[in-house]
Amino acid sequence: MAVQTIDLTRGLPGGATTSPLADAFARPITYLRVSVTDRCNLRCTYCMPEAGLPWIPKAEILSFEEIERIVAAAAAAGVRSIRLTGGEPLVRRDLASLVRALAAIPGIDDISLSTNGLLLAEHVAELRDAGLRRVNISLDTLHADRFETIARRPGLERVLAGIDAATAAGLVPIKLNCVIMRGVNDDELLDFAELTRDRALYVRFIEMMPVVENAGEQTDRYVSAAEMLARIGEREGLEPVAGPGGNGPARYFAFPGALGAVGVISPLSHDYCDTCNRVRLTADGRLRLCLFGDYHIDLRTPVRAGASRDELEALFRGGMLIKPERHHLQLGEAGSRMRAFSEIGG
Ligand code: SAM
Ligand code: SF4
Repeated sequence: MAVQTIDLTRGLPGGATTSPLADAFARPITYLRVSVTDRCNLRCTYCMPEAGLPWIPKAEILSFEEIERIVAAAAAAGVRSIRLTGGEPLVRRDLASLVRALAAIPGIDDISLSTNGLLLAEHVAELRDAGLRRVNISLDTLHADRFETIARRPGLERVLAGIDAATAAGLVPIKLNCVIMRGVNDDELLDFAELTRDRALYVRFIEMMPVVENAGEQTDRYVSAAEMLARIGEREGLEPVAGPGGNGPARYFAFPGALGAVGVISPLSHDYCDTCNRVRLTADGRLRLCLFGDYHIDLRTPVRAGASRDELEALFRGGMLIKPERHHLQLGEAGSRMRAFSEIGG
């Protein structure tokens, strides 16, 4: 059900409150994912069609200055962590200048990046110098031919170079995100686990979520977190451990003495919703309150109309009132009404 009208009176200027940001269910909201583009240099089968998406017109994409103003308002409301994402954020020119501007905003104490890693090696030093602290890299396979099948473009070597470059730049521990698909890469669960013995890598296996783009293969390809955990558990020596901190809802396992760990994320489970501390800003300036469903408010119109920081903060706080308690997505059921992650600020 789309919910698009909200009562902003609680947060309007004059009535603005300085209490910590929380939603209507008392979950503290401290984390904002900022999509800087919906475009991408890969075409992962579970994410977007081979021909790409109907891209957002350039004029509708927020400028860095507009993003900076919205993040300043979010920080004033209580947001502390920013994750830059997309589409592929590194296809946006001069991302480091945005990182530098966001790092200077009072209250923002953590800036991270989600990337497919293709362009990481060439940009990681300037990103770190600008204030980037952490990076999540997507990697679904350790085989070059499979990479090309899944991403519909070659690139494994460049991603591996990106991981090395991020390690050398000190952005550790690095989280690797790996979408597991039956018959495609589910035989690599333990190979990824082995990678974590002598590298500070936190590999997170993610259930394939139903979006329009993967509707045809949802039931065939889907592997549940429970099944992944059972299969990882078969490997002798892997024990449950605490994760590396950060904002993720993953459960982790490690070999004794290992530098890294493997984890499982189950976005379809409702445990995920109970601790949800995040909201999303899409590349075209919508504040999305939940990954699933159409709970959003438009921030681009007010930011372009010259709204003050207090006014934007009030809108941001007001948005929390429509953050739903939980999503109602189930495998197979919602594929037809989900758009790709890259459109909604994955
Ligand atoms: N392009 C960057 C990347 O791939 O890391 C950032 C954006 S991407 C949309 C963010 C994450 O969403 C990636 O880890 C990707 O694997 C994941 N993702 C995209 N579509 C998904 C789906 N249908 N199910 C599960 N994860 C998905
Ligand atoms: Fe691009 Fe990331 Fe989607 Fe793959 S998952 S197509 S890299 S946005």
